[in-house]
Amino acid sequence: MRASYHLNATLCVAAAATLALAACVASVAHGGHLREDPQPPIVDPGPIGGPPSDAIVLFNGKDFSKFRGERSPEPKWRLENGVMETTPMGGIFSREEFSDCQLHVEWASPSVVKGDGQGRGNSGVYLLGRYEIQVLDSFNNKTYPNGQAGAFYGHNAPLVNACRKPGEWQTYDIIFHAPKPQPDGKTAPGSFTVLHNGVLIQDHIPVDGEPTTAAPLKGVANKGPLYLQDHGNPVRFRNVWIRPL
Ligand code: MG
Repeated sequence: MRASYHLNATLCVAAAATLALAACVASVAHGGHLREDPQPPIVDPGPIGGPPSDAIVLFNGKDFSKFRGERSPEPKWRLENGVMETTPMGGIFSREEFSDCQLHVEWASPSVVKGDGQGRGNSGVYLLGRYEIQVLDSFNNKTYPNGQAGAFYGHNAPLVNACRKPGEWQTYDIIFHAPKPQPDGKTAPGSFTVLHNGVLIQDHIPVDGEPTTAAPLKGVANKGPLYLQDHGNPVRFRNVWIRPL
């Protein structure tokens, strides 16, 4: 009886030690840490299409308070039914300046098709007022590939054409790292990653600091405004939000 008790106790201690060792090995094998890492902050993603709870809402359909006009203190775009529309009175700049960011923009080209090539539903989303992701009705509308919808204009064509029909709402989700001026006068390249209607169209494309043709701002800078282009075609926008990274 006594011998059996000692044997059971010894087995229990051995089993406990083996379990502790196994837990430790498993923890190391899965890259875990014995100390507690800080938990990532909680973000409420909001409805489909956002805005998430930590985003800066630039346009929520109510007013132009977060924007100024390109040629006037206030934007001269139309605002109706929660949607803003370009006019030939110039583009609009965000009042706040940004650098690295995640940006969500919804846009629609006119449902009545007019013009072709670069003359159909042309606008643009310019990060730092310098680097354009092209807005264009590219549904059954051929143009040069690095000028179509979703192109990093003049630099890189989209991987695929994910354009919806004229008049339908479309989304851009853009992850942008700004090219940065360096103390030695050189530029550290940035990058564009873009999803068009949820489809990857720009996959971590380098941004070397050369501004896009027709960019309203020039030169490499640490920060700059978001710019939405007037290119003479009526294009609508809604639900614009940004998360500085
Ligand atoms: Mg454009």
